[in-house]
Amino acid sequence: FVTIKNAAKSYGTLEVLKDINLTVQRGQIVAIIGPSGSGKSTLLRAINELDPLSSGEVWLEDVQINKTLPHRQYEAHVNQVRQDIGMVFQHFNLFPHLTVRGNITLAPRMLKGLSEADANKLAEEQLAKVGLSDKIDEYPSRLSGGQKQRVAIARALAMKPKVMLFDEATSALDPELVEEVNLVMKQLAEEHMTMIIVTHEMDFAASVCDRVLFMDQGVVVEEGPPSVIFQNPENERTRNFLRKHL
Ligand code: ATP
Ligand code: MG
Repeated sequence: FVTIKNAAKSYGTLEVLKDINLTVQRGQIVAIIGPSGSGKSTLLRAINELDPLSSGEVWLEDVQINKTLPHRQYEAHVNQVRQDIGMVFQHFNLFPHLTVRGNITLAPRMLKGLSEADANKLAEEQLAKVGLSDKIDEYPSRLSGGQKQRVAIARALAMKPKVMLFDEATSALDPELVEEVNLVMKQLAEEHMTMIIVTHEMDFAASVCDRVLFMDQGVVVEEGPPSVIFQNPENERTRNFLRKHL
């Protein structure tokens, strides 16, 4: 469903990703764990072309995402691709000058051409899913971190993506707010949303994900089901990392 082949990425002489291969099946939930600087965010950002690879291929179903096209065609292609791939960041990235409704309806109206009424209906549906129906006319500055992140998830879901990418969605939150966001992600998991989740929360990864990838220094060192990676990892680097984080 999502396939990454021989992905490599350098910033100048710094090789951040080195020959990464990854296939995520439809409905599968994959966690990516690993030390700071190992390339986790770079890999996620490469999937939706926020930060294109230096070499290698990214596919979503039968469409190659990172292809070389003349400028205008590339823009149109990337716009299309990003409609299929929802992304949620550590720092929410809501538009501060728009209400919750404005945040959620913007892309469906601009990119999908939905009418105001249809976009509003969509916003109401998605907010109900994340339990924030009463905040529709609120501005982001008046929401808690957990509420902001749930709005960010609702906004991504409003585009009806095929895949959701989460980059440490809960690591900027106060501990008591983490659970409400995790619950929304668990609910998506139960609905069989395909998800790639970068996280530092090993318990969450173990309880929600089908597969766990451990990355270090730009390579996937080890991958497997959570039961193996967390309880019986083969690689010394994985064991060292987990000793510090479990
Ligand atoms: P963290 O857990 O801290 O979020 P990460 O695994 O997400 O780390 P990345 O953000 O992917 O790590 O960064 C991988 C490496 O790439 C780091 O060494 C980082 O300094 C470098 N890097 C990331 N973005 C850039 C950039 N725009 N220009 C130069 N170097 C970058
Ligand atoms: Mg990161």
